[in-house]
Amino acid sequence: MDDKLIDRLCCPSCRAQVEFQGDALSCAECECSYPCIGGRPLLVPFLEDKARFEALLEAASSLPPRPSSDTSPEGLDGDIEGFFFRTLFRQFDRRDPQWAFLGRKITEMVARVGEGLSVLDIGAGECKYATLLGHADYVSTDLVFSSDRHDFSLIDVVADASAIPFRDAEFDVALNLVVLEHVPDPWLAVDEMARVLKPGGIAFAMIPLVRPEHLAPFDFHRFTRYGIQRMFENSGFRVDSIEGSNGTFWTAVHYARMISKTEPLKRYGRRSIRGMFLNRLWHLLLWPLVFYARRSDKSYGDEFPMYFWVQATREPSGD
Ligand SMILES: [Zn+2]
Repeated sequence: MDDKLIDRLCCPSCRAQVEFQGDALSCAECECSYPCIGGRPLLVPFLEDKARFEALLEAASSLPPRPSSDTSPEGLDGDIEGFFFRTLFRQFDRRDPQWAFLGRKITEMVARVGEGLSVLDIGAGECKYATLLGHADYVSTDLVFSSDRHDFSLIDVVADASAIPFRDAEFDVALNLVVLEHVPDPWLAVDEMARVLKPGGIAFAMIPLVRPEHLAPFDFHRFTRYGIQRMFENSGFRVDSIEGSNGTFWTAVHYARMISKTEPLKRYGRRSIRGMFLNRLWHLLLWPLVFYARRSDKSYGDEFPMYFWVQATREPSGD
């Protein structure tokens, strides 16, 4: 593991410095010892919770070793939005307003992150944005549970978003993209995000308002823009903007379409003629509505978006 990364780390329980002892990282203050598996430290605050920790240990052991940090991704030709839809998220249809919005926001975020700035991607999952941030000093963390559904092989540090094992004021930028709904105490995660940012550092977050339950049972919250505002301000951020991903009408049509696609197949079975017929029929019936809603999205109110995109600046602390 590289020295630069170790220098940045701290104990997730007491925030004191950690040092290598044998093949584990140990805290000089509280004497906790954290394992490193495949070059990836497991710095989580729940060593005492045996069942939970064992499960995490097992998930982390199934991952391939962490790639060395100098295998930085290929440079992009500048067409970030194109790359986003062609390569990173091929499953996202860019005609859908929420994905078009996300493509724009990611492009803006990448442009905002200057050469060499340090970025902490919290709950980074498959580290999709690492490729776009090849010019920055990018570090990723995630709690690598549910690894059968996600490929966590690029994660640098196994960590809990509500006890981030990095020292205070270590990063210029923090990313928290569709993560807060999965954290039992999201306000702690926002506190932590503020703590690891330098004063003036920027947080980018994507937070759902209208999304079906997912990654069960690790799905705990949905947020309104007022809840987001309050949570970020209470943690020492100045909220620069909170934008809805799409208009109200599109959310309704999107879910009508989604349910019509999945429900007949769920009810009658994937291979049943009846299920497939109903699936196609609904698709045809809804098509004009989908066409119209995509085009007219902006003329409807945005109090019912699927996601909020948040940009917030870490205020210098008063003390
Ligand atoms: Zn400690």
